[in-house]
Amino acid sequence: FCNCLTFGQCEISRQMLKLSFHLGVAGGCHELLQHAPVQPKTKADTLPLSSHRRRRRQLKVEYDKDEGVAPVKTGHWEPPDWKKQLEFIREMRRSRDAPVDNMGAEKCYDTGAPAHVRRFQVLVSLMLSSQTKDQVTAAAMQKLRAHGCTVENILNTDDETLGKLVYPVGFWRTKVKYLKLTSAMLQKEFGGDIPKSVEELVRLPGVGPKMAHLAMDIAWDQVSGIGVDTHVHRISNRLGWLRKPTKNPEETRKALEEWLPRELWSEINWLLVGFGQQLCLPVNPLCSVCLNQHSCPSGLCLLHIEEK
Ligand code: SF4
Repeated sequence: FCNCLTFGQCEISRQMLKLSFHLGVAGGCHELLQHAPVQPKTKADTLPLSSHRRRRRQLKVEYDKDEGVAPVKTGHWEPPDWKKQLEFIREMRRSRDAPVDNMGAEKCYDTGAPAHVRRFQVLVSLMLSSQTKDQVTAAAMQKLRAHGCTVENILNTDDETLGKLVYPVGFWRTKVKYLKLTSAMLQKEFGGDIPKSVEELVRLPGVGPKMAHLAMDIAWDQVSGIGVDTHVHRISNRLGWLRKPTKNPEETRKALEEWLPRELWSEINWLLVGFGQQLCLPVNPLCSVCLNQHSCPSGLCLLHIEEK
């Protein structure tokens, strides 16, 4: 045998050896080449390449089974500059003075209330917060808490009074209905507390995946997934933090969770929400003062538009 076959270093030689056994030829790849009869050129050899391909497919080559060999990983994708960009966002968020820092769901519950009531108030503030500014949600929660924001009290309050308490949060009429239905379900199925899993939380009327993951994090101190709202969705797309652009927050959540280390899942929500409220605004983001302006694909585009 030739050296490469002896030491098993050459895949071609191993395949040639197999072929040699099929043909009844002893020896390594070099000997096989010597023994292989030289065929005279046939008509098929002069046909176009596609015919050669078809003919080659008929040759059966056996490959070694990869027993005990771990499958080769196809490569973990992550955005090229994300660590630097994240550091810059932390730097830009250092003063923690965005609306979410003072009026987010973490700040809207009654700290002196029993644990199950605090958890319920976290869920209520999350339900009220969709399509609503933090300032408006915080004001509604203040009125609700003064009224008595417990499962029993919400169930004992008529819709009109509840509507006046939460007005003017976005879609307040629908949210009043959801609050009543959710409270009834919590009382009936969960003993007045909120459930402790995303699967159960999303069964509650008016509670979607974003709210469920944030409720798990804030109310139960368990990180189950990234809370992706409109800010996180928009900024992730602008920064190119997704393998391909996404159409909605739920798509963004799944795409981010594929590569973002789990220990950052909780932090990323409040970081990007505040960043989106202060700098990376939905319309006219302040790219000229953003520390990521030179690495952000959208920032470069937006700066060029400003320059023109
Ligand atoms: S450069 Fe502009 S678009 Fe990019 S992250 Fe900064 S503010 Fe947002």
